[in-house]
Amino acid sequence: AIPLVIAISTSMSARAGILVKDRLALERMRSVDTVLFDKTGTLTRGEPAVVAVLPADGVTDAELLGAAGAAESDSEHPLARAVVAAARAATAIPTATGFRSLTGRGVRAVVDGHDIAVGGPTMLRELGVTAPGELTGPTATWADRGATVLHVVRDGRAIGALALADDIRPESREAVRDLHAAGVRVVMITGDARDVAEAVGAELGVDEVLAEVLPADKDAAVARLQARGLTVAMVGDGVNDAPALARADVGIAIGAGTDVAVESAGVVLASDDPRAVLAVRRLSEAGYRKMW
Ligand code: ADP
Ligand code: MG
Repeated sequence: AIPLVIAISTSMSARAGILVKDRLALERMRSVDTVLFDKTGTLTRGEPAVVAVLPADGVTDAELLGAAGAAESDSEHPLARAVVAAARAATAIPTATGFRSLTGRGVRAVVDGHDIAVGGPTMLRELGVTAPGELTGPTATWADRGATVLHVVRDGRAIGALALADDIRPESREAVRDLHAAGVRVVMITGDARDVAEAVGAELGVDEVLAEVLPADKDAAVARLQARGLTVAMVGDGVNDAPALARADVGIAIGAGTDVAVESAGVVLASDDPRAVLAVRRLSEAGYRKMW
């Protein structure tokens, strides 16, 4: 009977765009009680855009965007691509040298002889820089609404901030609701700031939000959930997510993901629709029923 079950599962899964790389992972999926979603690119589209530009007093929009765009020019991060696009639309971007990536925090480079750093609140804190008063109110409001805030620091002084919005996928809310209906706990993990992550998490109705998690710490976050006795499926798309996908009881790479993510996952989804996670669980249960 087993070859028949596999044959049925395979045709069902192919139709649903589910590639089962590890049959045992698929079998474990029916015991999963917690689904851990990566936020960026999984629950959101992963295509952020600059939606607000706020220079500090005495700084122009073009100056702020020029410095930020230059420093971000050598970064592959989706946030960087959005900043460069906004800068290009506003000004001629100067050339940067000495680019450094501050993983999970931001970037740093030399632009027109100035030391420019661009990154989130964690970077600002680590540089020991305080944003001037005219920036604090608006940036707090942006974050409360779920927008990612990037600060621009020139020679140790904050010269302005940018708000970046990454649309929540329209299917994400339903994916969370359906998983809840199936009795599954939903947790969201992100490197983004806590207030931003809480806003997105509340909008989606997730049970728990793990924020400000550095890329290298994502797999430890999975291990902590497992230490609480939870059986965890991790869903992600990025290079950052590969160790966490490998650590989870079931690793699910979404939207064909990056090569590294696909390699570390037991299950690969052809679509980038987070509702497909429940389909994987149904498939796991169907295989079980047919076997008996
Ligand atoms: P996620 O878990 O959402 O994929 P990342 O770990 O890639 O997030 O990034 C976490 C945070 O680090 C971002 O929200 C941002 O504040 C900062 N960051 C990362 N890369 C950059 C960059 N190229 N420019 C500015 N900020 C960045
Ligand atoms: Mg990511």
